[in-house]
Amino acid sequence: MMNIIFLGPPGAGKGTQSQIVSQRLSIPQISTGDMLRAAVSQKTPTGLKAKAYMDAGELVPDEIIIDLVRERVDEDDCRNGFILDGFPRTVAQADALAALCAVDRVVNIDVPQERLVARISGRRMCPDCGAAYHVSTHPDGRCGKCGGALYQREDDREETVRNRLRVYEEQTQPLIEYYAARGLLVTVNGDESIERVTEAIAQAVERT
Ligand code: ADP
Ligand code: ADP
Ligand code: ZN
Repeated sequence: MMNIIFLGPPGAGKGTQSQIVSQRLSIPQISTGDMLRAAVSQKTPTGLKAKAYMDAGELVPDEIIIDLVRERVDEDDCRNGFILDGFPRTVAQADALAALCAVDRVVNIDVPQERLVARISGRRMCPDCGAAYHVSTHPDGRCGKCGGALYQREDDREETVRNRLRVYEEQTQPLIEYYAARGLLVTVNGDESIERVTEAIAQAVERT
């Protein structure tokens, strides 16, 4: 049983790494960003409420996102643990999570601010399997896993990116202290190759 949180600014590599580590540990990746994008494209009530916030690079209100996560972690496949990717993002969300389940490790992926804009503005997503790539390594625009036609997220354009980084600093960065104070935080250097970051995370997680 291993409940893990991946923390870090937009573009740190949370999605990339949580997909890899989820396969390695055979526990599901729970990405609130992916769940919200699916809700938006299906035009569910949650998706309709969330869309304007996401387009502006603001956080979706806590109540909406907490309900979504509460239902998800209750599902059967989460019994042996899970990786939360992109949640919690506020202290209120962290408090709500603490009331729902135990947290075993918080992996903080640290990447210098000046790297993030280049990573995010070059990010390309697979609509079919959710994998993220960078335009510099996948100029052909095809998913390496399933061949899907990669697209750029609407909120990955530079104007919105700046706001998302500001929102991260104001609302999410305080969680580093929050989890350090609870003895759960491990920080890994995310400014390395994808493979090296995965190794650092594997070590951090095994040290439990
Ligand atoms: P997050 O989920 O934290 O926003 P992603 O995993 O989607 O971040 O990664 C953001 C972008 O950076 C993507 O284009 C991805 O391919 C790229 N990326 C991820 N990890 C690395 C890395 N270690 N080095 C270089 N680029 C990376
Ligand atoms: P990133 O690549 O920046 O980490 P995500 O895919 O995790 O982005 O999230 C995209 C958008 O979805 C966020 O900008 C925000 O509007 C919304 N979102 C995702 N997770 C949360 C959350 N835990 N709380 C509030 N809003 C969220
Ligand atoms: Zn794919």
